[in-house]
Amino acid sequence: MVEKTEKIWMDGNFVDWDDARVHVLTHTLHYGLGVFEGIRCYKTPKGSAIFRLKEHVRRLFDSAHIFQLDIPFSMDDIERAIVDCVKVNGLQECYIRPFVYIGYGAMGVYPKGNPINVSISAWAWGSYLGEDGIKNGIRVKTSSFIRNHVNSNMSRGKVSGYYVNSQLAKREAIGLGFDEALLLDTEGYISEGAGENVFIVRNGVIKTTPLTSILDGITRDSVMKIALDEKMSLKEERFTRDELYISNEVFFTGTAAEITPIREVDSRTIGAGKPGIVTKRIQEIFFDSVHGLVDKYSHWLTYI
Ligand SMILES: *Cc1c(COP(=O)(O)O)cnc(C)c1O
Repeated sequence: MVEKTEKIWMDGNFVDWDDARVHVLTHTLHYGLGVFEGIRCYKTPKGSAIFRLKEHVRRLFDSAHIFQLDIPFSMDDIERAIVDCVKVNGLQECYIRPFVYIGYGAMGVYPKGNPINVSISAWAWGSYLGEDGIKNGIRVKTSSFIRNHVNSNMSRGKVSGYYVNSQLAKREAIGLGFDEALLLDTEGYISEGAGENVFIVRNGVIKTTPLTSILDGITRDSVMKIALDEKMSLKEERFTRDELYISNEVFFTGTAAEITPIREVDSRTIGAGKPGIVTKRIQEIFFDSVHGLVDKYSHWLTYI
């Protein structure tokens, strides 16, 4: 269950949590074209801070632009509303969900004239793949479902409807006793998790999937910057599932999943079957950064 708070921002005003309702004929509810963000706010020694707020708002507007959804607010308006949403709910650490959707009006697939609505919700949400997962690693299954083809669904957008594909993969993985799914692209190379980007480490070289079939993750970007600043060797390059099987370390990144080590894939142990040194070093710097303990990355934080 989502942990209830006081207020949700809807189209410019705060409404009570229980009154944050939409009509059943809301267009997005039927056809899945809505764009959203997942953002986290963490406690720091100087109060709560939102991690990479500007980049998340930029991506929300980019997603809307790709799908020709005209957001009736400026990026500044949305940034301010996100900060306010954390403030009015008195949250210290939370997950924030801005959502842009096509509202009530025409019901055809060309919803000309329907309003474009925006909501911002925030609530306390712990580790998406579990505290134990963050500490000890999770077990992952390569999915029988393929990630969207770029000319079928454009991967630069963070779109509600794409999560049908993610849910199929996740349900399959859970049904088979795994924690999360790993999807391949249409050519058979590793793409990403159901809602996470993926990294492998082999012989000291870190690799992550290039931006073709995947979402341009902000956690992925943060990890890449950390790795480069640490003078680690990093490549954005496609790789196959067998290369992943023989990697020393594998981990997922995402706002919800943060940095979650993967200790097993398709019943094959990865490395020593526990988080490796590169993963742990990156995890440490990442968690210190979001908690305001790394000066070099203080520009990633927006204080409440
Ligand atoms: C949100 C998401 C990610 C992670 O992106 P972050 O910006 O790091 O939260 C990865 N893949 C998919 C499909 C996503 O929707």
